Amino acid sequence: MEIARRLSEREICRIFYPNSSTLTAAERRKLDSAVKYVERDRKVFDEVLIGRLKGAAVNAITFPDKRVIVDYRLVRCLDQDQLISVMGHEAYHAKHSKRMLGVAAVSQVAVWASGVAAVYFGALSTPVQDTMVHLGFLDIPALAATAYAGLSSAQLAVGKVVTAIKRREETKADLNALNHGSAQSMISALETMRAANGDVYTSYEGKVLGLVNRFIGLFEPHPKFGKRIDVLRKHV
Ligand SMILES: [Zn+2]
Repeated sequence: MEIARRLSEREICRIFYPNSSTLTAAERRKLDSAVKYVERDRKVFDEVLIGRLKGAAVNAITFPDKRVIVDYRLVRCLDQDQLISVMGHEAYHAKHSKRMLGVAAVSQVAVWASGVAAVYFGALSTPVQDTMVHLGFLDIPALAATAYAGLSSAQLAVGKVVTAIKRREETKADLNALNHGSAQSMISALETMRAANGDVYTSYEGKVLGLVNRFIGLFEPHPKFGKRIDVLRKHV
């Protein structure tokens, strides 16, 4: 029985660019045997789906419900050992999907709580209130602006903490790949992905867009490819 199933057109349209997730029979066998190898001791993925991911193309994504979506180009670009390593990385995410759901829930509550605190201390504390009254600003728009500023900065601060947690998880996922494939195969898989997708931190060129890059990079959940490779080199 084939393990990986092709996404239905409806599912593809929901998550991906429409159409095209074609693999040859040999490529499907390569993916199926990589999944079988990673699941040799116990089942990890709820479902393995082949699709065409938006954005970073040569990639795979594991969702909290333990479904993994593998871009057909990833299967095409990687050899058997590299694919085993990448599926070993994804297996870590599937095994620890609940943890990240917990992080997401806690961080959302933290955003709200710190946003409310920012509004309270900002708009309602006596010195600020006095100043606002004095300047004639203590009206609904001023309160709304303070609320917005408070919530936004809380969101940025919490976002940065969550990013740090996610990057640690990514490193652990890379090391989990070593339980299935070799460090060398994971390194060469990352090098292939970097060559195909480009570094996530350098999507835009130019001075101004370069700054945008760096800002987006602050919240990128994956460490840079170079950093990930350096960690793996210690295990070659
Ligand atoms: Zn990952």
